[in-house]
Amino acid sequence: MFGYSGKILHIDLIEQKTWVEGKTEDWYKIWIGGVSMATRLCWENITPGCDPYSPENPVCFANGIFAGTPVPVGGKYGLASKSPMTGFIGDSLSGSWFSIALKRASWDGVVIHGTSEEWVYLFIDDERVEFRDASKLMGLGTFATEEAIRDELADDQVRSATIGPAGENMVRFANVTNDGRQAGRTGHGSVWASKKLKAVSVRGTKGITVADPETLNKLSFDITKAAQGPHTSKYRLLGTVTNVLNMNKLGLLPTRNYQEGVFEDAEKVSGEYLHEHHHVKTIACAQCPIACEQMSMAKTGPWDGAMTGIEYECLFANSSNLGINDLNASIRLIEVADHGGMDAMSMGITISWAMESFEKGVLTKEDFKCEKYPDGLELTFGNGMAAVATAEMIRDQIGIGKLLSQGTKRASEKIDEERGTKSYQWAMNSKGLETAGYEARGLKTFSLGSAVGTRGPCHNRTASYDPDIKGVVDRFTVDDTRGELARSTEEYAAEDKRTQPY
Ligand code: SF4
Repeated sequence: MFGYSGKILHIDLIEQKTWVEGKTEDWYKIWIGGVSMATRLCWENITPGCDPYSPENPVCFANGIFAGTPVPVGGKYGLASKSPMTGFIGDSLSGSWFSIALKRASWDGVVIHGTSEEWVYLFIDDERVEFRDASKLMGLGTFATEEAIRDELADDQVRSATIGPAGENMVRFANVTNDGRQAGRTGHGSVWASKKLKAVSVRGTKGITVADPETLNKLSFDITKAAQGPHTSKYRLLGTVTNVLNMNKLGLLPTRNYQEGVFEDAEKVSGEYLHEHHHVKTIACAQCPIACEQMSMAKTGPWDGAMTGIEYECLFANSSNLGINDLNASIRLIEVADHGGMDAMSMGITISWAMESFEKGVLTKEDFKCEKYPDGLELTFGNGMAAVATAEMIRDQIGIGKLLSQGTKRASEKIDEERGTKSYQWAMNSKGLETAGYEARGLKTFSLGSAVGTRGPCHNRTASYDPDIKGVVDRFTVDDTRGELARSTEEYAAEDKRTQPY
């Protein structure tokens, strides 16, 4: 079998043992790789009805079929477990060097079972697996954990997927980070923490065989050329944040907790402004000729020097949707999320729910009192200082941060039950997962796609915004074609069909 090793690695954290499972060619033909294969592995290894934080919920990795080959944008892996956000299978796609290392270590997939007694990290050294003491890594941020593991193993080629302090603290929307990229959204970081799993590190030293290297190289070269052409130029120059002004023009830029779709200061949080005032360098994931990631730095004020990669979804959630027009504050917020190991979208949207609750009198300054802020916080829209302080309280589980770390659905339900309020009405989630960066009232097909999506309201798993934005249908009205469109665009996004459904 070319492109695959034919082997799935199973790791039991309870008994610290491993075993290898072989799969048939037919199995690979159906599940191919990445999210599809990881989801299938989850399906095969999960105990139905289990609690997402129980030992019966496995952590499942699967490499993309093209990881480690010359195929552009192919360095990806899928990660799947039962999601503590939605209660369904939570799948994420991430990439870069980690997936390539896993492929070179000759594993198509990895299934991690059980729960460890003490905090560990796993070191997959080609075929060998070590269960290593993680006590020295506890409390370290995601990037610092990767560095510390490289130092400990004295090998700067070791690649790691890690959780940060937010994961360790069981922030429900904690994520997993590798090589500066995130397997985000569905709460993998807290699932790992429930297993006392701080990181998975890989050293892969083997080659990958393909059936026809010459043709693959030629096709890869053609795709690389196309990927560097005009269709991607806006992403290469500004990244996905190029969409801020377009969304604003269409009335789709979520503003002040999705109460509005136009932000009066959109120019100040636009991709163009970010590029001119905060751009440090443009970086690419491994195997990608597009290079869309905008490494950006706060340049003035209390967060001077804060630095992280910025893309559209994390930016809207931490700027216009908080009513914040100061990119220095937004960069710091996203840095807190990325280094702390939290999903920047869920974090920002949970803070925007708290802001609207504060402005409507459901939450008060009293709720935000803690040792560091004895007078509480004035969490109004636009208050960057209070937003950053709240993000840090979520990461560290301080005061009201404990409640907010559960996401909008659970936080609003608890507050409403205690106070007799109706803050669930502005808790922007579907199935417990915070919504994507489109003001859905102006995208009727996408509204439906978000409501019924398999992963929750995710722009990556439903492409139902596409017929709305392209004008295939009237985006402001509803008719009986939308169900079929929502279904077919989700299938298209899952690559079940080769051509667009309209
Ligand atoms: S650099 Fe951007 S386009 Fe390329 S793989 Fe990474 S996220 Fe995708």
